Amino acid sequence: SVREQATGPKLNRWQKNAVSEIGKAIRERKHRVYLLYGVTGSGKTEIYINLILKALEMDLGAIFLYPEIGLTPLYQERFNPRFPSLVLHSSLNPKLRRKNWHGLRKGLVRVGIGPRSAIFGPVPNLGIIIVDEEHSTSYKEMFRSPYYHAREVAIARSRYASCPVVLGSATPSVETFHRAIIRDYQMIRLPRRIDQRKLPEVQTIDLKREKRRVITNRLREELLDTIARNEQAIIFINRKGYAPVVICPDCGKTVRCPDCGIPLVYYKREAILRCNYCFHGERLPETCPNCHHKGLKMLGIGTERIEETLRKHFGDKVIRVDREKVRSDLARIYTQFKSRDRLLMVGTTLVTKGHDFPNVTLVGVINGDQVLNLPDFRSAEYTFQTLTQVAGRAGRGKRPGRVIVQTHQPNHPLFQSVRSHDYERFYHDEIMLRRELNYPPFCRLILIRLRGKRVDSVKKIGVEIKGNIPSRPGVSVYGPVPSFRRKIGKDYNFIMLIKVKGDHGWLKDYLKSKDPRVSVDVDPISTI
Ligand SMILES: [Zn+2]
Ligand SMILES: [Zn+2]
Repeated sequence: SVREQATGPKLNRWQKNAVSEIGKAIRERKHRVYLLYGVTGSGKTEIYINLILKALEMDLGAIFLYPEIGLTPLYQERFNPRFPSLVLHSSLNPKLRRKNWHGLRKGLVRVGIGPRSAIFGPVPNLGIIIVDEEHSTSYKEMFRSPYYHAREVAIARSRYASCPVVLGSATPSVETFHRAIIRDYQMIRLPRRIDQRKLPEVQTIDLKREKRRVITNRLREELLDTIARNEQAIIFINRKGYAPVVICPDCGKTVRCPDCGIPLVYYKREAILRCNYCFHGERLPETCPNCHHKGLKMLGIGTERIEETLRKHFGDKVIRVDREKVRSDLARIYTQFKSRDRLLMVGTTLVTKGHDFPNVTLVGVINGDQVLNLPDFRSAEYTFQTLTQVAGRAGRGKRPGRVIVQTHQPNHPLFQSVRSHDYERFYHDEIMLRRELNYPPFCRLILIRLRGKRVDSVKKIGVEIKGNIPSRPGVSVYGPVPSFRRKIGKDYNFIMLIKVKGDHGWLKDYLKSKDPRVSVDVDPISTI
């Protein structure tokens, strides 16, 4: 309606509570970290808008971060009718970037929005910083030094600016939720979807009992039904299956590191299994270590193979979207799908983010294990977050949504939490495991990347660093070992990992971080 255009929709009591609580901190110019924890569709964006408006009323500025450049038009669509903002991101042409930078610095426009690097935007007199989807790994700079995390920079910047910072998510990172539980951060909950819309029903299919394991008969039937009703479906497969995972087709167990409990990665060239955290390595066993079944299986199916299989059944009703596509292609694909020109969309994590396709009533997850078996202590967290996000795509219109997850491990506690939409249950399982295995938030990880022209000299500098670090309780050093990417350009790559309990500042003196061959990444997202 016209009224909604100007002033926005009426807030429910949970939204009102959040706005008044955080609004108070804006008025009093207090630094506070808020976790805005609300189920998908609970109306977080409307809260953000109201908070930014409050800052503007007081003649203060705001920075708003979202995880990916591709989401820019979606946020602008929501913000533009309510307040002016300027976008900052790396793909802007230099002229526009200069213009936006200038506009913010001069205070011509008070709100800067954008992905990761927008946190450095020159907004004077900050009244609030907002980090939407705070759990997203895109906030971490992974490819060049400084390896900053935009969420951590946001917290530090809001401390200097003496303003509140809001971290929003339906599936917070385990670290953030932990900080809220121990009351470092203040938690604000949004327990309901707006308009009482129901969360989709989630079912699992046990792949161990199925003959067809790429697209099971039941998923195929569900797809046929959906198309017969002229509704649409999204098929999700995670492309992060870069290296096959080794799994027993009989008992469903994956081969894991005996020390860390993390799934081992199969390195084809060397024909060994290796743990990417402690670097334990072993030969590929001939039988399952758990049940002695002969003939372990490699998992690893990509979007293209799924597309091919679906086309056999559904012809040209199928469309594929993945990160290799250029942005104009993506826009065309989304338009085609939204106009119901195509009925099945196959995709990677790109299909999980933000998009509103009201005619989608079915979401199929081809292999729920694929993310779970990532060689990373965060794999359970990623799986829960990804499946919850992808499930959130179903049933956003009037008709209810359904989600079908194909998995070898339907009884895994994680899938039970996904089925019941229970983040907190997931969190409690996960935090116990992290404590037991000594992973963050119970320690810090420091990843040291070493590179150089000659293998022996690269390795030598790692050995020197290791020798320098005084042995103290609560400090363990692993490596140096060759990195997963053995060579980048002409350089050989080695990595080392340090686990440290408590303060880690004193370590700085021993890490040779001024040496150009050494780079230090505190709290790495990945060791690949
Ligand atoms: Zn290990
Ligand atoms: Zn087995």
